[in-house]
Amino acid sequence: MNVLDEIRRRRTFAIISHPDAGKTTITEKLLLYGHQIQEAGTVKGKKSGRHATSDWMEMEKERGISVTSSVMQFPYADKVVNLLDTPGHADFSEDTYRVLTAVDAALMVIDTAKGVEERTIKLMEVCRLRDTPILTFMNKLDREVRDPIEVMDEVESVLQIKCAPVTWPIGMGKNFKGVYNLLTDTTVLYKSGLGHTIQDVREIKGLDNPELDAAVGAYAAELRDMLELVQGASHEFDLDEFLAGRLTPVFFGTALGNFGVDHMLDGLVQWAPEPQPRAAVERSVTATEPKFTGFVFKIQANMDPKHRDRVAFLRICSGRYEKGIKLKQCRTGKDIRLADALTFLAGERENIEEAFAGDIIGLHNHGTIQIGDTFTEGEMLQFTGIPHFAPELFRRVVLRDPLKSKQLQKGLTQLAEEGAVQVFFPLRNNDVILGAVGTLQFDVVAHRLKHEYQVECAYDVINVATARWVEAASERELEKFREKAHDNLAMDGAGHLTYLAPTRVNLQLAQERHPDIKFRETREI
Ligand code: GDP
Repeated sequence: MNVLDEIRRRRTFAIISHPDAGKTTITEKLLLYGHQIQEAGTVKGKKSGRHATSDWMEMEKERGISVTSSVMQFPYADKVVNLLDTPGHADFSEDTYRVLTAVDAALMVIDTAKGVEERTIKLMEVCRLRDTPILTFMNKLDREVRDPIEVMDEVESVLQIKCAPVTWPIGMGKNFKGVYNLLTDTTVLYKSGLGHTIQDVREIKGLDNPELDAAVGAYAAELRDMLELVQGASHEFDLDEFLAGRLTPVFFGTALGNFGVDHMLDGLVQWAPEPQPRAAVERSVTATEPKFTGFVFKIQANMDPKHRDRVAFLRICSGRYEKGIKLKQCRTGKDIRLADALTFLAGERENIEEAFAGDIIGLHNHGTIQIGDTFTEGEMLQFTGIPHFAPELFRRVVLRDPLKSKQLQKGLTQLAEEGAVQVFFPLRNNDVILGAVGTLQFDVVAHRLKHEYQVECAYDVINVATARWVEAASERELEKFREKAHDNLAMDGAGHLTYLAPTRVNLQLAQERHPDIKFRETREI
């Protein structure tokens, strides 16, 4: 296959969901369809006692790094699918947000018993920054869930995206019978207890087919009535609207029962876009350009002190990676030869010596690579759209040995550059304040300060609710604001003026009082 075809068949996406909605379970089933794991066993290894059939675990052991579920690549139909993990529960961090800048589409998973939850709302906001196309999977239909129409309405009103049901559920809980596909006019029947296999499903063509009545009884008539309502209350699928991020195709099913995930996957490979063009400061870069370009969106540190190695995850934006390729790191101007990039097609990693636009490769990093770094075959480029996100959690750093404050500064500045945490230096005193979006980030930083910089620190709570990067049209205005708001201002690790608001109300008042000042929730790296 030639390079262009390889690029065009890439589909790179991530899952956005609230914890416990079913992301891990869906990932397992996706891999099952990708035939990477014959029996969907464990992805994170947290579920059953059975041990990982997957090769990432091996890779993890061998290389002493945790790449287990960061990137998963699998073939499906005639496409190559890259699924990027969005760290969830405890490991929720800015990385979670930034992963979304490296994908071309996202799958939103909703627990239909719960509806739209808080984490999903936030992740959707991030997808909005790039108008990422979104597919939706309404999960857990094998349970008593909420009225599907009501949940769909909630998605439309809370997330401001139009819903186009592709499938519609028949019954729920113990009486979950299957789904009707509105586009193909076919009913697919559900059998419970087959979650670990790819099922031979029974399909019934046509809504008025008497076979349907025979198969699901009174639910058939209910479905026919319901569909009229559904069609009135929703939108028809429209590819352009989907690609513009304004409409989401909706699928129903149960990940645990492995039912419906394949319908979604079919939709994904059919409709989700091929690797999209990326904006750089200098120009827009098209995926099918022959020369390699890419940017780093995540750096994964190892918590194990024996392995100080870190991995930088790079999204290839154009061209092709091959073993031994010579690349320029545009920020430093340095040339490097890449012989040992990690690729993520499980099972075949020995043979994989190349990767294409849309793929993710892992670079070994000894502290020289930062989030946002652009790599090319020589052209000077800087990809844009890899932001810092306003932190929501704050701690004051308490140094155990005051003589080490220089080392602390150095360590924190480097860790902030790497994207592990954000650091703020208030104008009014000598405090050092850390900001994060997930609590684990603070632990990681304390651990790494100790082991990599020999600085021991503890944290104090501090009265900061949120941060905004401030900008003004003129230096004069900014100077005026700096005087007025002095006590709430700080410099961040990269020297940008930041407003640290003790409360949300305070932020709102500041915004009203200073209409000429822009309070930004994100800052470009
Ligand atoms: P994550 O936190 O989003 O990764 O969610 P998990 O995949 O770990 O799922 C959370 C819990 O919901 C687990 O106990 C799963 O077994 C369960 N779960 C996931 N999908 C389904 C489903 O379709 N039906 C039911 N009944 N439970 C499910």
